[in-house]
Amino acid sequence: MTDVRLRFAPSPTGYLHIGGLRTALYNYLYAKQNGGDFLLRIEDTDRTRFVEGAIENLLEALQWAGLHVDEGVKMTDGRIVQAGAHAPYIQSERVSMRIYDDIADKLLEEGHAYPCFCTKERLDTLRAQQKADGKVPRYDGLCRGISPEDAKARIEAGEEYVLRMKLPAKTHIVFDDLIRGHMDIATEDMDDQVLIKSDGFPTYHLAVVVDDHAMGITHVVRGEEWLPSTPKHVLLYDMLGWEKPVFVHLPTVLNKDHKKLSKRNDDVAVEDFRAQGYLPEGLINYLALVGWSPEDNQEIFTMDELIEAFDFTRVSSSGGIFDRDKLNWVNAQHIKQKSDEELAALLQPYLKEAGRIDDETDPAWLMLLAATFKENLHTLQDIVEESAMVFADTVDTVEPEAEEYLQSEQAPVLAKAMHEAIGSVEDFAEEAKTLMKRVQKETGIKGKPLFMTMRSLLTGSVHGPDLNQLLLLLGPDKLQRRLQAYL
Ligand code: GLU
Repeated sequence: MTDVRLRFAPSPTGYLHIGGLRTALYNYLYAKQNGGDFLLRIEDTDRTRFVEGAIENLLEALQWAGLHVDEGVKMTDGRIVQAGAHAPYIQSERVSMRIYDDIADKLLEEGHAYPCFCTKERLDTLRAQQKADGKVPRYDGLCRGISPEDAKARIEAGEEYVLRMKLPAKTHIVFDDLIRGHMDIATEDMDDQVLIKSDGFPTYHLAVVVDDHAMGITHVVRGEEWLPSTPKHVLLYDMLGWEKPVFVHLPTVLNKDHKKLSKRNDDVAVEDFRAQGYLPEGLINYLALVGWSPEDNQEIFTMDELIEAFDFTRVSSSGGIFDRDKLNWVNAQHIKQKSDEELAALLQPYLKEAGRIDDETDPAWLMLLAATFKENLHTLQDIVEESAMVFADTVDTVEPEAEEYLQSEQAPVLAKAMHEAIGSVEDFAEEAKTLMKRVQKETGIKGKPLFMTMRSLLTGSVHGPDLNQLLLLLGPDKLQRRLQAYL
């Protein structure tokens, strides 16, 4: 059996779309499950869409997400490199090597393609007329009738032209899609696709077929928006006598309103999710589930578990809904799996950015903070809000429920007792966990009144993390200041 080789082939539009990351992920999972290779190719033949820095951005996002490229365009030490037997893997660099021209010439010679000299004006008028007549706009084949000699003379005379594919008449193109099943398209419903543009660059359709063949791609896995293009590709494979890959078209990632995720209304860039504090593990785990349903309803997966369990036959053919609440839940599960030390390191940039900590902050204290709030975090960014109570010098806002406890008789008694208890300890870190016991003994107040009032006194809230941990986090000075302010 030939080795399984899959590729992710994005156009460098400036950022990696979350739907693109899912496509890359499914490619990666299948490749790894089958001991194959995951390739990255850059499809940049549409020069009007070129964006500076886009390739770096894409590679960084993939690297962050944990999708390691075996072959093709990669990032090594922060630099773009192209590694593998089929280099270059950036299509614009393949153009000057005449890789696509050679194939185009062959198609022309064998009568599968023809030069078309129609002007943009003519095509626009034709399209407008067809639309007005209620017809599907398509090229009318005017230039098909030009003899090869005439065509050659016009090209030599410098006339601008494109190369079109000559669709066979009254034929059905058939292929099987792993998710969609059997597809059957009549050539009558297709267009004489442009293969080489007037600027000499190949179109996506020619380039993708030439490169997938050249690079030995066995499975073409991409978004369903490419499904209408596939019959053209199938035809090209047949014209060239090449073996076809397996085709897999993935359902579109939709927002909660069942609309395509759009840059205008939704977060779509992977870097945005990263900045908001999603872990790569969480985002990847969640994305895998947008469209794919595992056999036993398991929801939390590591990458290795995904590689093991993933199955194209369990990917739905209808769109997958991107649900932020579910993503948050999945991400929270992955945050809980981090050790305190790992989590502290992950939280550090968010706390720094918010001005809560600096380089001098004690790592042990940061670990305690991570441990204290771990259970409350859906994203890393959440730490800023969740731990806000720890940073203020005084209790600035008091929740209504806490206010009731502060109005109670026991409040001043407990505040005084705690103030004294703190004043009497020698080694705060060692004895912090004994403070509540001492206060209870001293005042005879226990249970809910003791705990809720103490929370209200120290934080202004009746909810929050473990009280002993909170005492440690706040430390003696801040605790005393807060109690003093109340008293
Ligand atoms: N370059 C196409 C894109 O931008 C790739 C489509 C394919 O995978 O064939 O998504």
